[in-house]
Amino acid sequence: MKEAHDPAAWVTNVVQAFIRDSSDNTLQDQGGEKAWGEPLVGFSRGDDPLYEAYKEVVGPFHWTPGEAFAQAYPGTQVAPEELTVICWVLPQTEATKADNRTQTVYPAERWARARIFGEGVNVKLRRHLVDALREKGYAAVAPMLSPQWERKTSERYTFSSTWSERHAAYASGLGTFGLCDGLITPLGKAMRVGSVVARVQLPPTPRPYHDHRAYCLFFSEGICGQCMARCPAGAVTEEGHDKVACAQHLRPVTADYVKANYGFDGYGCGLCQTGVPCESKIPTRRDV
Ligand code: SF4
Ligand code: SF4
Repeated sequence: MKEAHDPAAWVTNVVQAFIRDSSDNTLQDQGGEKAWGEPLVGFSRGDDPLYEAYKEVVGPFHWTPGEAFAQAYPGTQVAPEELTVICWVLPQTEATKADNRTQTVYPAERWARARIFGEGVNVKLRRHLVDALREKGYAAVAPMLSPQWERKTSERYTFSSTWSERHAAYASGLGTFGLCDGLITPLGKAMRVGSVVARVQLPPTPRPYHDHRAYCLFFSEGICGQCMARCPAGAVTEEGHDKVACAQHLRPVTADYVKANYGFDGYGCGLCQTGVPCESKIPTRRDV
């Protein structure tokens, strides 16, 4: 559909149709419930200066779109401005959010399923979009699925990686960071993101913010901070997100709980993403 005249609409439809129509979009529970609601899609230019800035902000190991593209197409001469970073937001369903809101220590089963099987859907979506683009003649790569993608740890950057999809989504106009590090999007913070870099020129999505924390009420208005109280590990404070304390809660604490209570190998938490004003929207003062 539309691809010849409007490649941006075509790409958006490929992402949204997969989540809407594919039987792969499932929590793999008994009822075959959907893992994700209708996605938001955004684009950023391959030569957006933010990607160079991420070498400072995230770490010198973080790929530019050109470097990510080169992992799949080594030796291909491509200018950064020929590339587009395509990002999407997969919102948690109402049922999953409602369940997790009631939790105080461990993840709800739906949330843990979304973390494991829902992320599996996201992996399939990345592959699906890469295949669809290549079929149309656009070279494409999903940086997260690149064999060269790796986690990085360092004293300065704690846990990072060679490609941060949340930072790509920020660059693509999809949201800003909250006190607990999650990305607050127009669909809220209870979501996961995905991305693909492609040799196609699509109009960048406007970034309706000038600050990387613009949507978080703690930074914009000096109020809220509800994600601090939601965290069972004390990992969110006025200083921000303690990634080490968070990781120690995820594994082994929630991993043991998920195995013992839900019967599969998984983990998850997301308590700071649910039952807070930014759960499902960009919050305002009236939401606190
Ligand atoms: S709960 Fe409040 S303080 Fe925490 S990220 Fe959301 S808006 Fe910011
Ligand atoms: S994911 Fe859980 S442990 Fe980690 S910061 Fe959020 S509430 Fe705390």
